[in-house]
This record gives sequence, structure tokens and C-alpha cells, in this order.
Amino acid sequence: MKQKDVLKKYLAYDNQVRVFVIDATNMVSNFRDLHQASNVVTAAVGRTLIATTIMADMLKNDSDRITVQIKANGPIGNIVVCGDNTLNMKAYATNPQVDIAKKSNGKLDVSGIVCGGKLTVIKDIGLKEPYVGMCDLVSSEIAEDFAYYFATSEQTPCAVFLGVNFSKENIVQKACGYIIEPLPDASDEVITKIENINLNISSVTNLMLDINNIDEVAKFITGDENIKCIEEKEPLLKCDCNKKRIEKTIIALGKDDALKIYDENNKFEVCCHFCNKKYCFSREEIERLFI
Ligand SMILES: [Zn+2]
Repeated sequence: MKQKDVLKKYLAYDNQVRVFVIDATNMVSNFRDLHQASNVVTAAVGRTLIATTIMADMLKNDSDRITVQIKANGPIGNIVVCGDNTLNMKAYATNPQVDIAKKSNGKLDVSGIVCGGKLTVIKDIGLKEPYVGMCDLVSSEIAEDFAYYFATSEQTPCAVFLGVNFSKENIVQKACGYIIEPLPDASDEVITKIENINLNISSVTNLMLDINNIDEVAKFITGDENIKCIEEKEPLLKCDCNKKRIEKTIIALGKDDALKIYDENNKFEVCCHFCNKKYCFSREEIERLFI
């Protein structure tokens, strides 16, 4: 049986450090199948999905929502990932089939399809206006870009590790990551110790494959044998689109324009970017929306 995806939250060194560790292999694999994405796009979107799922877990209430947009200058176009605090997530890229050669070191060239741009984070936490934070991409390899976002936009420096790798048979073998966040009481000694451990980790996917146990990974990356798990959730790639929501966008379009589209195409078909589900409307259905 396939292992389920899991996200676990920990406190280390007597509440000095918060740690999130996630295995998102199924989510990333499902994204790839759904969009027939190339390996390099799967890596780019997968890393973004892993980081955004952890950020969704950082929200406080079940109904709080997060959207992360990467407006890339490169051929991938935009990457968009949304989700809520129950970790139902959805993701898409404008051009999922873009492909380029690997780097000379054999790694997928994620920065080669992203090529700079902007990272925007929108958090809807039930207030009148959503919280919006933004920064430039600094490396286009995604993990460094999220670390830069945390340091500059949220003033919470974190260590961010994200990875997606493929087996020889070309399936997503492991998609995983972790974020280590020093809390206000963290001592310099603890921070230095964790920094030194993580300096020597070159691949989060290899680490996870070698250790193959999330709790042991959490101990390893912090060096704290007494680390406490305080939460466990199962993240899912699951779209929340429905016909009602599509109807709202048709209403926003206006009756004349909506009917014009119907008449020009002899159909009115809307495809959800996130899950590719098609919604079809007859002329009568469109007219009824405006009564
Ligand atoms: Zn959908």
C-alpha cells in the first residue's frame, strides 16, 4: 500500500524552535499526472506546493486560506498554489509541459524555467482585507526564495529545505521538505548548532529516503533527541471548484459578453486551471443566471 502524505509539527529545545516536516510525494505525483507536467515543472511547482502547504499549516483557523503566486519571467509562466488550514491544496502552472536540459551537475534546472520574477503571498484570515506580502525571487530555485520571503516580508528568518526527485523509471520518488523556525526565545547556541547541521545537508529527498521516518528526520535536522511532535495532518491535492463558483464568474462577465462567447463557440465551456474539470453551460443556463 502507498504511504500517505503527512505533515508534522514539532517543538525542539524546550520550545525554542518550531519545525515542520512534510512528505508530499503523493500530492506532487498527482499534480504531475493531472497536468502531464514535465519533470522540471513538477519540481518547480512541487517545491512551491510543499512550502505553501507548510505555510497553510502555520495559519490559525480551519477556514483561513493562503495563496502563493510566483510570477516568473521564464517559460513556466505563473505558478499558483492555494490551500487552507485543513491542508486541502491545489496548484497549477501556466505552461506545465515546458522542458529544458538538466544542469551540468545532473540536477533539474528549476531556475532555468523560472528566471526571476516575483513571489506574492496572500493570506485570507477572515479580516476585511487579506494580508498581502511580496518579494523578488532571489535564486529562482524556490527554497531560497521562500527563505528570503520569510526574512524580509514576515521578519521571521527560517531555514527552508524543499525537494522533488524522480526514480530511474521517471516517477516521483520523493517530494518533501522542512522549515525550521527559531522562536523569540531561541538561544544563539541552539541556532548555531542547527545551522551547522543543515549546512551539511545537500539533498532533503536523499535524507528522507535514507532515514525513511519523519520523526527521525526531525531529530536529525535539529540535533534534538527530545523533540516533541505537537501536530500531525494529512495534506491532500484536492480542488474545491464547483459549478456555483463558475456561475459567479459568468455573472461578473455580464450577460451580453457571456452570450456572445456562447454564440461564437456554439458552447460555453469553462475549464478549472487547477484540476482540469470542465463545466459546460447551455444558452438557457446562461440566460437564467441573469434573471
Ligand atoms: Zn478545479
